[in-house]
Amino acid sequence: MKPHYNIPVFIPHLGCPFQCIFCNQNKIASNRGIPARAELITSINEHLDTIRTSGDNIELAFFGGSFTAIDRKLQEEYLSAVQPYLKSGQISSIRISTRPDYIDNNILQFLLSYGVKTIELGVQSFSDEVLKASCRGYSCSDVFKASRLIKSFGFKLGIQLMIGLPGDNHAFDMESTRQAITLAPDMARIYPTLVIAGTALHRLFERQKYKPLDLSEAVTTCKEMFLQFQQHDIAVIRMGLHPGEELLSPGNIIAGPFHPAFGELVEQEVFKEQACRVIAKYNEDNESSGQLILFVHKQDMSKMIGHQKNNLLYLKNQCQLRDIKIKTNPVYERDTVGLAVGNESEPLFTLTRKEFIELRKGNQACPTHLPEFSFF
Ligand code: SF4
Repeated sequence: MKPHYNIPVFIPHLGCPFQCIFCNQNKIASNRGIPARAELITSINEHLDTIRTSGDNIELAFFGGSFTAIDRKLQEEYLSAVQPYLKSGQISSIRISTRPDYIDNNILQFLLSYGVKTIELGVQSFSDEVLKASCRGYSCSDVFKASRLIKSFGFKLGIQLMIGLPGDNHAFDMESTRQAITLAPDMARIYPTLVIAGTALHRLFERQKYKPLDLSEAVTTCKEMFLQFQQHDIAVIRMGLHPGEELLSPGNIIAGPFHPAFGELVEQEVFKEQACRVIAKYNEDNESSGQLILFVHKQDMSKMIGHQKNNLLYLKNQCQLRDIKIKTNPVYERDTVGLAVGNESEPLFTLTRKEFIELRKGNQACPTHLPEFSFF
């Protein structure tokens, strides 16, 4: 598969009708200001010079603002600047992100005429209560209306959800996931809410009117959401904010479940539980073996091993093993875990991600009693 490249164009808060209580784009991404048309063209050329692939997998992505709420003239300026690259095939498509309340027939017709292919909606929650408490300025019905319209025009739809917003809880997050799935998006992103300096949430936090999730809660909820999306073949393309230089600058993250590799932590937890299930399956019909080998796809090694070998240590203790090894299996697909005992070189059992999700759905408790996430 050819690698996919995004040429990012950061338009901090451009078009946003107001600053949402949790958001300060100038603190979460590099503060380069709003690009003029000439700067946009220079940036595209610089990126194209460094990308060593043909244009059929190169996408230009406007992010950090509400694209469809920008003055139409400026939208035209940006989009027309990209047209020569689309025509020459150097860039294959354009992606924009925006708010659900700035989508209608006219807007979508306009985007279509300029070759936009993907629209990401900053939905954040499907709970009207949470949307209200977070002052988002639209309701759940706006999200359904916008998403259906986007799909009816043939755009790819991305849905961004946040967890840990004011008024939110685990049950709301799971319901938001279920509602998002009914819209059949092509992709999803999940962001745990952080308290960023200079936001209204920061002031609420200082007055003790807002309590962020801790890392363990955020990982646990994201894990459940991630598996729900996977079950429905919806790609989760990001979990957790990108740990850019600006975000990591001292004083920018005030509180909240930040980790520079948040998505990796979530997936490590999934692999840990999936391995537990494989071991339990083996133990159902066999005497527990003191020595096991787990097999995974080579790109899943780090997720199976866990941060600082956390998963291996956990499995070793919990399953009372003398030794546990991880090996790659060249025929495995991603997200698969297999098991062999002793020095066997072929797996005796294999559990794909879909089979693992089915097992969990059957409410069969994992006999190894997986505890809550415990990274620290
Ligand atoms: S969350 Fe989105 S709409 Fe709200 S201020 Fe940030 S970029 Fe703008």
